Amino acid sequence: MDPDDRLVAPTAGVDDAEVERSLRPRLLADFPGQDKVKENLSIAIAAARQRGDALDHILLYGPPGLGKTTLANIVAHEMDVAIRTTSGPAIERPGDLAAILTNLKQHDILFIDEIHRLSRAVEEILYPAMEDYALDLVIGKGPGARSVRLAMPKFTLVGATTRYAMVSAPMRDRFGSVYRLDFYDPPTLAVIVRRSASILGLALPDDAAFEIARRSRGTPRIANRILRRVRDYSEVRGTGVITLEDTRAALKLLEIDDLGLDETDRSVLRAIIEKFGGGPVGLETIAASISEEADTIMDVYEPFLLQCGFLQRTPRGRVATASAYRHLGLIPPTRDLAQPALWDSPAEPAGPE
Ligand code: ADP
Repeated sequence: MDPDDRLVAPTAGVDDAEVERSLRPRLLADFPGQDKVKENLSIAIAAARQRGDALDHILLYGPPGLGKTTLANIVAHEMDVAIRTTSGPAIERPGDLAAILTNLKQHDILFIDEIHRLSRAVEEILYPAMEDYALDLVIGKGPGARSVRLAMPKFTLVGATTRYAMVSAPMRDRFGSVYRLDFYDPPTLAVIVRRSASILGLALPDDAAFEIARRSRGTPRIANRILRRVRDYSEVRGTGVITLEDTRAALKLLEIDDLGLDETDRSVLRAIIEKFGGGPVGLETIAASISEEADTIMDVYEPFLLQCGFLQRTPRGRVATASAYRHLGLIPPTRDLAQPALWDSPAEPAGPE
């Protein structure tokens, strides 16, 4: 199954784009949560505006669906400048980036999502642009080729990534500020779903809002998506007015459990426990055993399982914790789960096959 089609997938699915646009806050004041990041950004914005200058380059990182794209757009709005949006994989050749850069105007924002996926050749173009606001172009081919340097307007690069460790060191060094976004707590998510409900014209009682918030994996994108499914449920099955009972019944139908885990999350845990004795087991092995991409598990599934304390990362691989056993209704073994079981080989444990 395409991970973006899962109800709790924190990445955007195809039907999300339009609704997401309408639910996106436009100002820092309308963006609940991430207080430290907001405070830093608001100071930087006020200072840059006072000086009539561009903002320093900003790198935002954290799991998908926590508001990186939203914040980039808010910054552009608050700075009253245009934003140009692209992504690492979309910029295939250095020439693609050069074309984008030459079209930027003074103080504009260039937002590059998944910036860790830029190729080295493209990064080489970006460095002088970020540092000296200069574009180094090679004209011609072979021995007659020469390099020319073009000045470009001062702009702000906002980069976003789910994998901070994969952003190259020279790239990281060129960002004036780096902010990590964290999962949201349920009260903040409740504020977010109430705001979304009011934009969608839905009456949402507090208990239902809190139920959605509690079961959204700390992620606003998922909270908004569950809200829409609960609305559908209450329109079709219920009275049309969202109640706590409707919310619970809809979540049950969607197989989202008490903590917001869906069937695929549970299958990751179950695979580690039932196929690999609780771990330690390598990510690639887990991925193969449930037919998922290792990258998808790392970006989409694992961060929240770690946050819940269901999974531990050890040098030898992933380990299911005692709480993961209990959450699945199983009895945790008595051995220290972070230590290899007796039957594990010193290398990554082999699959059952
Ligand atoms: P990311 O770029 O980190 O994947 P987005 O910025 O695209 O996440 O956010 C996904 C969705 O969640 C958007 O529809 C956005 O409106 C909503 N969202 C994210 N953070 C917040 C927040 N703090 N308040 C309200 N809505 C939010």
